[in-house]
Amino acid sequence: MANALPRDVPAASASESVAREPLTACPDCRGSIVGITTGNCPACGVNIISAIRRHESNHSVRVEGAARYRRALVLALLAYALLAAVLFIGGDPGDAAWFVRRQLFFVPIACGLWWVLCTLWIGFDQPLVLSFVRIAAITAVADTVGFFMWWVPILFFNQLAVAMAFVVLMLQWMDDLEPQEAVVTGFLLGAVRYMVHIGLAQGEAA
Ligand SMILES: [Zn+2]
Repeated sequence: MANALPRDVPAASASESVAREPLTACPDCRGSIVGITTGNCPACGVNIISAIRRHESNHSVRVEGAARYRRALVLALLAYALLAAVLFIGGDPGDAAWFVRRQLFFVPIACGLWWVLCTLWIGFDQPLVLSFVRIAAITAVADTVGFFMWWVPILFFNQLAVAMAFVVLMLQWMDDLEPQEAVVTGFLLGAVRYMVHIGLAQGEAA
């Protein structure tokens, strides 16, 4: 799905941002890309397909703002309901408090990381609140996966599974991400979650 149109972009807005006639200018620097053979802009070097996708995504966020918020919010509520159900059924006393505390630390850090990655690398300018809701939802599902991994006593496998959950959900829900972006971001989030986990556990032990 790397270079496909974002799922929820109506045809009209997609054709607005991507001209029906052949593209002659780089979406980023407006330099001419007539006759290029490599797929990269000769002036600024950006990958043209990737630049189109990014501009479309930023455009569709503005057009489809309300629908995206609604969908993100529903997914977040479902994700937290799932986590709460799993903790209620299989958790020990104190587990819920631990999960809540870790999320309170991790979600803002993850949002900050996401913002930095968007600014420096991915190039999205998604509204911060929308990103926050989506990352909270993704965290809730990844934590649910992590809960089941408590019974898998293999070093690092737990964290790997959580990171994989991040990757899959970033691909699914932040639907404009390219696979390589989702993989790198997902594993970074997994690593940060692990550090927050260790930090909180040590703070508790001290
Ligand atoms: Zn360019």
